[in-house]
Amino acid sequence: MQVLREVRLSGLTTLGVGGVADRVIEVEDATELVSAVRDADEAGRRLLLLGGGSNIVAPDAGWDGDVVAVRSRGIERTGGRLVVQAGEPWDDVVAYAVENGLAGIEALSGIPGSTGATPVQNVGAYGQEVAQTITAVRVYDRAEKSERILAPAECGFAYRDSRLKREPSRFVVLDVTFELDESSVSRPVGYAELARTLGVELGGTAPLAEVREAVIGLRRGKGMVLDPEDPDSRSAGSFFTNPIVAADRAVDGCPSWPAGDGRMKLSAAWLVQNAGFGRGTRDGHVGTSSRHSLALTTEPGATATELLAFADRIVATVQESFGVTLEREPTAV
Ligand SMILES: Cc1cc2nc3c(=O)[nH]c(=O)nc-3n(C[C@H](O)[C@H](O)[C@H](O)COP(=O)(O)OP(=O)(O)OC[C@H]3O[C@@H](n4cnc5c(N)ncnc54)[C@H](O)[C@@H]3O)c2cc1C
Repeated sequence: MQVLREVRLSGLTTLGVGGVADRVIEVEDATELVSAVRDADEAGRRLLLLGGGSNIVAPDAGWDGDVVAVRSRGIERTGGRLVVQAGEPWDDVVAYAVENGLAGIEALSGIPGSTGATPVQNVGAYGQEVAQTITAVRVYDRAEKSERILAPAECGFAYRDSRLKREPSRFVVLDVTFELDESSVSRPVGYAELARTLGVELGGTAPLAEVREAVIGLRRGKGMVLDPEDPDSRSAGSFFTNPIVAADRAVDGCPSWPAGDGRMKLSAAWLVQNAGFGRGTRDGHVGTSSRHSLALTTEPGATATELLAFADRIVATVQESFGVTLEREPTAV
C-alpha cells in the first residue's frame, strides 16, 4: 500500500479535471482495499474510490479526504469462469478472453477503466453488457462492515445502471466473476453497425479476434479509444445515456429502439446534435467531440465547473427542444 499526499485529481482522470486530493492510497490487493476503506470509515474521513478515472468528473475543489486508488491485479480461470480482481484493467480481461477462446465480452473491447467499475454502471457497447456474463460480485459492504457476494439479481442491473451505482457509498467491489462460453467464435452479434463491419447478418457470429479488431476500429473512428494523441478521447466516453421514454413520447426523426414494457430508447447523440450541439461545438475549454456528439471533451486548462455548466446547457436545450430529459452517465463527485 502506498500513500501519496497532495495529488491533483486531474492527473488521475481521463477528463483531466479536478483539484488536489489530501491523500491517495494505492492498494495492491483486496485485503489492502478493505483495510484502506475501513480505516477511512472508522476515522470519519470522506472516501472516494477510483479505478481508471474514466467515468468521473472530479471536483475543482479537490478532495478533503481519502482517495483509494484500486490497483489490485489478477485473472483466475477455471473452464469458462474468470474471477478478476477489481483493479485489473478491463481491456486486458477482454484481450485475455479473446486470446483464450472465451466468448461473451468480445464486443466490450477497447473500453477504458478497471474491471471493478464494470458492474457499477453495467458497462455496455455494441450489443453486449457485463450483466450478460457476470455471475457474482464480491464486495465489501460499508453499511454491514463485512464482505459478501452479490448474486446478479442482487446487483439490480439495468441499462447503464445498477444497485452499486444507486447506493454509491455502500459497496466496494473486490472482484468480479464472469461465466463465458468456451468458444472461438463470438456470441450472436447484436449491433447492426458491428454486423455490417464484420460482413455478417445481425445475430450471426464471427471469430473472436475479428470481432475485437472490428470493435476497436469502430471505436477508434469515433475517438472512443483512449489515446494521448487523440484530443477527442479526452473524455468520459458518452456523457449522457440514451433516454428511455413511453412509446407515445417518440421524437420525430430521432432513431429509437424498443426498450421493453411499451417504452422506447431514444438516441441521445441525435438529441444533442439536433438541439444545436453538433460535433465539434466548443465553449471555452470544453465541447463536444469532433467525431461523436455524445462525448464531451476537455482541453488543458478546463475545469469541472466549466464542463458541468456546458453539460447543463445541453440538458436544458434538449428539454426545451424535445421535452426529453437527458441523464448524465459519469459520476460527478
Ligand atoms: C474514451 C472512453 C470510452 C468509453 N466507452 C464506454 C463504453 O463504450 N461503454 C461504457 O459503458 N462505458 C464507457 N466509458 C466509461 C468508462 O470507461 C466505464 O464506465 C468504466 O467502467 C469506468 O471504469 P473506471 O475504473 O475508470 O472507473 P472510475 O471512473 O474510476 O469510477 C467510476 C465510478 O465507479 C466507482 N468505482 C470505481 N472502482 C470501484 C470499485 N472497485 N468498487 C466500487 N465502486 C468503484 C467510482 O467511485 C465511480 O463512482 C468510456 C470512457 C472513455 C474515457
